[in-house]
Amino acid sequence: MQPQAAKNGLYPVQSPFQLPISLCQPMFTIIENVSLRAYNSFHMDVKSRYYAEVKSTEDVHEAIESGKLAKFGENGHLILGGGSNILFTRDYDGLVLRVSNKGIESHFEEHDTVFVTASAGENWHGFVTWCVDHGYGGLENLSLIPGNVGSCPIQNIGAYGVEVKDCFHSLEAIDLKTGEVRVFSKEECRFDYRDSIFKQELKGKYIIWSVTFKLNRNAQVQIEYGAIKQELSDLEIDYPGISDVSQAVINIRHSKLPDPEKLGNAGSFFKNPVVDLKFAGKLKESFPNLVSYPANGDKVKLAAGWLIEQCGWKGFRDGYVGVHESQALILVNYGNAKGSELLTLAHKIQNSVYDRFGVKLEMEVNII
Ligand SMILES: Cc1cc2nc3c(=O)[nH]c(=O)nc-3n(C[C@H](O)[C@H](O)[C@H](O)COP(=O)(O)OP(=O)(O)OC[C@H]3O[C@@H](n4cnc5c(N)ncnc54)[C@H](O)[C@@H]3O)c2cc1C
Repeated sequence: MQPQAAKNGLYPVQSPFQLPISLCQPMFTIIENVSLRAYNSFHMDVKSRYYAEVKSTEDVHEAIESGKLAKFGENGHLILGGGSNILFTRDYDGLVLRVSNKGIESHFEEHDTVFVTASAGENWHGFVTWCVDHGYGGLENLSLIPGNVGSCPIQNIGAYGVEVKDCFHSLEAIDLKTGEVRVFSKEECRFDYRDSIFKQELKGKYIIWSVTFKLNRNAQVQIEYGAIKQELSDLEIDYPGISDVSQAVINIRHSKLPDPEKLGNAGSFFKNPVVDLKFAGKLKESFPNLVSYPANGDKVKLAAGWLIEQCGWKGFRDGYVGVHESQALILVNYGNAKGSELLTLAHKIQNSVYDRFGVKLEMEVNII
């Protein structure tokens, strides 16, 4: 079967000094008992019973057609990108498929609009930088978010007033049962706050293979959110372009968030809870300093970090697990923590927030 990704002209970017992929790349190979420590940003020292990298659609098709994938059963495989939104609580007994396809291509332009397709295995920040360097605006507020392009639609990543859905056009995904390539439109992805159809009924059923974004050569920069304006002013930039905004976001993130290379973490561990306006109003009567933002309809988004901080968790540490000292939403591994210990801590936090505020915190991180 001819994969649609190739039909649409998305080929891996290759240096002229490289051999053709078919000559130098090994075929799809499954290896046993592989440590996943280097492949997850919590640095959990777990093993996968089986592990394979998929670099081409042929690899995926071989995995399916040879029966190697089916062998591990419906829930016996895990697709892995950059591992920055996963908490491993145990060794994984099935097959980890690490998506490693590469390539970025701008393939259609209309006035100021540019359509850019990136392979799932591309590093997200590398891709954002590529767009900024080419003058394609829209994603700059999402600079420095860890992970890969293929994962960005799964939880509709967002930061500094922008979500991926704002620039999303479509994606190509491969059905892991049939090998068929399916194109998903924006509506079909059912994007919501840190959510999409791929976190719900299609979880684990498709490999997202490439994502197409609708970007703009003449983008209006978005600087109203968070500390961007202040950072631009500190940089003495009066008329910011997309590269200035990207740099401001990078500076802010460097100053605020722990670097997973130095301190294991997966960013926000919990989602900001979205509650009814009426409930939020009552809560505000009891807790006048409650931090909240308007959400869609008659809903209000509460700042999960504030709720956790009020319960006294900020800076908490027990052995190797803890809550970051300046970001209560970030749980950390101080060295040799076990995923199960981190999960126990997460449950304790959920319980105490519920007891104090009557609010259920939902985990943003995928628990394995
Ligand atoms: C320091 C830090 C800061 C962060 N800041 C933010 C932020 O500001 N905003 C935000 O939204 N997130 C943030 N995150 C979370 C994380 O970066 C994003 O969720 C990111 O999109 C995860 O990408 P990944 O490739 O690492 O996914 P992984 O952790 O590898 O996988 C996440 C989920 O997607 C599935 N998956 C991965 N690739 C594919 C694929 N190709 N096809 C199908 N399924 C797939 C996995 O099975 C898993 O369920 C942060 C994380 C860290 C560590």
